[in-house]
Amino acid sequence: MTKELFQPLSGNVMPRFGGPATFMRLPACGYEANLDAAFIGVPFDIGTSNRPGARLAPRQIRDESRMLRPYNMATRAAPFDALRVADVGDVPINTFNLLKSIDIIEAHYDRLLATGAIPLTMGGDHTIVLPILRALKRRHGPIGLVHVDAHADINDDMFGEKIAHGTPFRRAVEEGLLDCSRVVQIGLRGTGYAADDFDWPREQGFRVVQAEECWYKSLAPLMNEVADRVRGGPVYISFDIDGLDPAYAPGTGTVEIGGLTVPQGLEIIRGCRGLDIVGGDLVEVSPPYDTTGNTALLGANLLYEMLCVLPGVPTR
Ligand code: MN
Ligand code: MN
Repeated sequence: MTKELFQPLSGNVMPRFGGPATFMRLPACGYEANLDAAFIGVPFDIGTSNRPGARLAPRQIRDESRMLRPYNMATRAAPFDALRVADVGDVPINTFNLLKSIDIIEAHYDRLLATGAIPLTMGGDHTIVLPILRALKRRHGPIGLVHVDAHADINDDMFGEKIAHGTPFRRAVEEGLLDCSRVVQIGLRGTGYAADDFDWPREQGFRVVQAEECWYKSLAPLMNEVADRVRGGPVYISFDIDGLDPAYAPGTGTVEIGGLTVPQGLEIIRGCRGLDIVGGDLVEVSPPYDTTGNTALLGANLLYEMLCVLPGVPTR
């Protein structure tokens, strides 16, 4: 199949409020479609500790993504001129069983990665990054990480449970999934359970950029440093929408004040261009708390920006 078949449906062909309910109204395909990049949903929120609802995000992000047009007018990226991209649907998790769901997600990403497609994931709460990283490590070896979040997500357990949305990066370190010298966490802030909550990741070799280090400035210089740190191997982008300030992204479960701005979020993803990006996710959008749809719209745009920095995307 040629790339001509893998284009978003234009708003000048079908009104934006009609057409298929896929990401950017792209074709719906199976894993066997020989894609370069695949949008995939994981409608999972049973690892959530506070306000739920992220199970509903893949559908809402797809709905808001209808506003996206194919060309990036800021970076001049033209992803659909070169890549075969489609929406491969949702992972059929078992919403009554967290551990079974983790295994189901891992198996689906094993299958998708075996096709060579780069997964761009609509979460889902942040628990889902653990099985995704397990599958990525199996294919690529230890992964570098650009992690945007208000939270470090390195708790040892939550209510005694080892797998939840606040623990995935602790498990990832323990399991050897990450190349810890190539991990950066950006946007961490708020109150902690213990004074050293952000020290554990630093002790693993992560670069931790607390939100206060980002206030009042462009993150382009920071991203030059980040890119130098994480290049030299495969890199995954994990973007928790609560890394952004709740003024912009109120539709999420675990809200913290004093967060990143939307332009800073764009600078982080755009600053990943040129890296060997092997996947990305946008997690923790909670549509029941997103009364305007703007949080999901933000999520859709950030996923599009991840597509624009994938290897092989030309500029025009
Ligand atoms: Mn998170
Ligand atoms: Mn978070």
